[in-house]
Amino acid sequence: MKQQLDSQNSASENNAGFSYLSRKRFLSETKKYLAVGVMGGLVMEGTGSVAFGQSNIMAMSPPAQVPVDKSEPIVLEKWKSEVDQQSGPTPTPMPPDQRIGYAVVGLGHLSLEEILPALNSCKNSKLTALVSGSPEKMKKVASQYGVKTENCYSYETYDQIKNNKEVDVIYIVLPNGLHKEYTIRGAKAGKHILCEKPMANSSQECREMIDACAKAGVKLMVAYRIQYQPHNRKLRELVQSKEFGSPKFVEASNCQASANPDHWRHKIKLAGGGALPDIGLYCLNTTRFVLGEEPTEVFAYQYTTPGNPLFTEVEEMVSWQMRFPSGVIASCSTNYNVHESRRYRVLCEKGWLNLDKAYAYKGQELTTAKASGKLELNQNIGMAETDQFAIEMDHFSDCIMKNTKPFTPGEEGLQDHMLMEAIYQSAKDGKPVKIKASPATAKLHGPEPELD
Ligand code: NAD
Repeated sequence: MKQQLDSQNSASENNAGFSYLSRKRFLSETKKYLAVGVMGGLVMEGTGSVAFGQSNIMAMSPPAQVPVDKSEPIVLEKWKSEVDQQSGPTPTPMPPDQRIGYAVVGLGHLSLEEILPALNSCKNSKLTALVSGSPEKMKKVASQYGVKTENCYSYETYDQIKNNKEVDVIYIVLPNGLHKEYTIRGAKAGKHILCEKPMANSSQECREMIDACAKAGVKLMVAYRIQYQPHNRKLRELVQSKEFGSPKFVEASNCQASANPDHWRHKIKLAGGGALPDIGLYCLNTTRFVLGEEPTEVFAYQYTTPGNPLFTEVEEMVSWQMRFPSGVIASCSTNYNVHESRRYRVLCEKGWLNLDKAYAYKGQELTTAKASGKLELNQNIGMAETDQFAIEMDHFSDCIMKNTKPFTPGEEGLQDHMLMEAIYQSAKDGKPVKIKASPATAKLHGPEPELD
């Protein structure tokens, strides 16, 4: 089209290189321009600047490339210099009627504060149903998020989800001790299962959940959001590429302060344990994820302040070490009775990588240090803030659409439970516990997630 306009012999060039046309000529050319655009099925935004008369009125449309394939990002006009951090590709959300539908089970802190808001920023996942024991709360949440009344279930009517074609996935966000029951019932209803961490209360329960999902022919994923979080993924990439030399030592801790002894987290039947399965699990799972290998031995201490009503049923703190086949030692700790601290550091031959707020919902701070001659170079690696819950759910939806294994399937949850059982055993016996042959880390995972 630009060529057609340029070739008009009545057009003249000004100093800036724009073609000048008479007003009449401009209108006639514009009609032709639009006709060719429509007939050719093309989007003609920004194909050139055209001015008429001496008034220098220019067509201002920016050059956006609009792809026909919906999964390709729209490319907008570049305006930032390379010296600034570049934004990622524009999001490529699917039309809502083509997305995977989620039923969220349990409307507590995590669901209301993180998961439901995250579903609003998903690309290929959407909220279609709710399950709760509180009709008033569910009614309010349903109206906030536009969930139909007929898609709201109680724990008693939960099994009827089987007949709801708008639900593809059941996301279980209940106390740990209920994960097994709701996973098995959900699998029997023929729905794919996304289960919060810890996967269950024991490795035996994990096996039953894996078997039930396999028998029903549905997928099972454990919601290990850290394995989808960009800073954690970047750190893992730098460690595994040996950018800082071989890793030698990992220090990791995840701690917070509890206040309510009546909460299910402090009841052994519903929680399965104390600080270890709830928050210490992040140190365990993320260390395995970052190193890409499985521990061969663990050694642990466990402590609970006598007389503290918070800890009559579950432990207050666990501190443990893990030995890996490469020779790396990881030293981890978790505590329910200290001020919040969620961090880890990987010490390597030529430098270290540190992630503060590593296991938090946002605000990760990735810093590194590396020797360079007489200097130590410190780097602060800034990355765009993204919603890790949305990334995680979209990965599961992707697996369903492409019929692939989730990156963090039930086997990954089972491995953590076997290791936590060894950690408790070591603390009880006061000696190291050897881990009988573990599958290779890669075998515990599905293919790497395709992330933007
Ligand atoms: P919560 O106590 O805030 O919510 C639990 C919900 O389960 C409540 O709505 C409660 O009414 C309901 N429930 C149903 N039956 C119950 C029963 N018998 N006893 C107690 N509650 C019952 O808990 P939460 O913090 O939302 O945690 C839910 C799950 O999510 C847990 O497995 C937890 O480990 C996990 N979690 C994961 C993350 C993460 O970052 N991935 C963060 C927090 C919690």
